[in-house]
Amino acid sequence: MKNEQNTTLKNPLEQYPKPPFQRQPQQPPGLASKMSPQPDHGEESYRGSGRLKGRKALITGGDSGIGRAAAIAYAREGADVVINYLPEEQTDADEVVQLITDAGQKAYAIPGDITNSEFCKQLVNDAVEKLGGLDILVNNAGKQQAVDSLSELSEEQFDATMKTNIYAPFWITKAALPHLKPGSVIISTSSVQAYDPSENLFDYAQTKAANVAFVKSLSKQLGPKGIRVNGVAPGPVWTPLQTSGGQPQDAIEKFGEQTPLARPGQPAELASIYVQLADDSASYATGQIYGAAGGSGHP
Ligand code: NAD
Ligand code: MG
Repeated sequence: MKNEQNTTLKNPLEQYPKPPFQRQPQQPPGLASKMSPQPDHGEESYRGSGRLKGRKALITGGDSGIGRAAAIAYAREGADVVINYLPEEQTDADEVVQLITDAGQKAYAIPGDITNSEFCKQLVNDAVEKLGGLDILVNNAGKQQAVDSLSELSEEQFDATMKTNIYAPFWITKAALPHLKPGSVIISTSSVQAYDPSENLFDYAQTKAANVAFVKSLSKQLGPKGIRVNGVAPGPVWTPLQTSGGQPQDAIEKFGEQTPLARPGQPAELASIYVQLADDSASYATGQIYGAAGGSGHP
């Protein structure tokens, strides 16, 4: 059978917007709907083929960016999905709920702040109750605020970055563990910052290295239980995390320019990795970090 999609070669250099971008500051966490150009989360492009039929997924930070791309792809592959996000991101979350519902799957939106340990436990319990179980956990929410000098980095920011990026995945995963049966998966969103930290991301880069150690340690612990644990290390991706203080605005103008593809990635370009790591066909993948950095960084 002829497949039109596969007969047309697409040049990755030409597929998506390139710098220069306009400055576009927002208060964190920022909204995808306010970005220009609009990020591509696969709304028009992602096609599923039943790879995750009947699966039950919880995705933190599922309202926008990489988490939204994973949520759309999971739904189109046949999974029901709970997304978590901050209350001020409700409009972005509403769009994701609609997209999941349009895919014929159940969608549940649970707003709340994951820097609160009690909320993290409640989030998992509510997700399990709504989905009727849990077998895909994506620890994807993150906080990133660029600060030039250590002497300007406040204790409050350091603490909030650690709480969001390290404590929350610990609290959420610990609460989820009793519900995860053999065949379940845990996926962490790390970063190239784990391996090649920027001078102005001192706190954030440390948390992303911690995410790698989380994957490497927990995969050893949970391998014997038949639960796979993997991570993704993206490079520069066009999301509100970056435009709402993750980078200074002069860096937004040339965001992604330094990669061999000379542009940032779009969330949609990472979705298939999150699908692959959740799919049973990746049954020998555990303790792995998959790079998605447009030719820059490690691993
Ligand atoms: P994003 O802003 O779209 O997603 C981050 C999400 O984190 C937000 O939508 C928000 O819902 C959530 N969040 C932040 N603080 C929270 C809190 N206290 N409580 C609940 N939710 C909270 O941006 P993104 O780039 O898609 O980020 C997703 C992940 O990707 C993050 O872990 C980030 O570190 C990682 N990452 C991003 C890039 C990039 O260039 N965009 C590169 C490497 C890694
Ligand atoms: Mg968001």
